[in-house]
Amino acid sequence: MSLYLKHLTVHKSDGSTLFAELNMSIDSGEVVSLMGPSGCGKSTLLDIIAGHLSSEFTYQGEVRLNERRLDSIAAHKRKVGILFQDDLLFPHLNIWENLAFALPNSVKGVQRKQQAIEALQQISLSQLADSYPEQISGGQRARVSLTRMLLAKPEVALLDEPFSKLDKQLRAQFRDWVFEQLKRANIPALMVTHDEQDIPSDSVTLNWPWESTHAR
Ligand code: ADP
Ligand code: MG
Repeated sequence: MSLYLKHLTVHKSDGSTLFAELNMSIDSGEVVSLMGPSGCGKSTLLDIIAGHLSSEFTYQGEVRLNERRLDSIAAHKRKVGILFQDDLLFPHLNIWENLAFALPNSVKGVQRKQQAIEALQQISLSQLADSYPEQISGGQRARVSLTRMLLAKPEVALLDEPFSKLDKQLRAQFRDWVFEQLKRANIPALMVTHDEQDIPSDSVTLNWPWESTHAR
């Protein structure tokens, strides 16, 4: 499974160009890191892939997952998982319910709780199953968030500055764990970061301006 971006050009509603002719491919198990100054269009690029582009923008070009064109598919059917710097766990659901929420609809009834609990056991947090997000630490929430993302069985992962709210020590630990989980999920991943330290050693990095630096 590979993600392809072909000839992506994005315009703002005032006619200005955000970026032009971006080409890239990301293979399964690969993390491509995307860097660039604030406002250059990093989050907008992720919005295009996920299908959440604001009406302030238009784009040309294509987004494909192997032969499947994502452009024409509704956001909720694209199987794109997103991780933000804020965990976005539902405050009114406890931890196992937050995880169960992400499970595919094909998982029914008591199976949903069971699979959520199993996922928590795998990250050694099953003691937090009945806690609410505000009752657990930032690092624990971060791990639950990534786990929730992966439980939905995405075919692509997008990470938008996923480590920037974590303190230094936690950050290094969580980072390594995230890349391990992504490798295991064996899906293409695109990560926005402003910190070179966040980039795994084997990662291709796109530096702004992207169009002149990376085409393959
Ligand atoms: P980055 O993530 O690289 O910091 P963004 O992709 O969020 O940048 O934004 C790209 C540009 O588009 C910025 O100039 C930003 O101000 C503008 N922008 C972002 N979202 C909107 C929106 N909903 N409406 C209008 N302009 C936007
Ligand atoms: Mg951004």
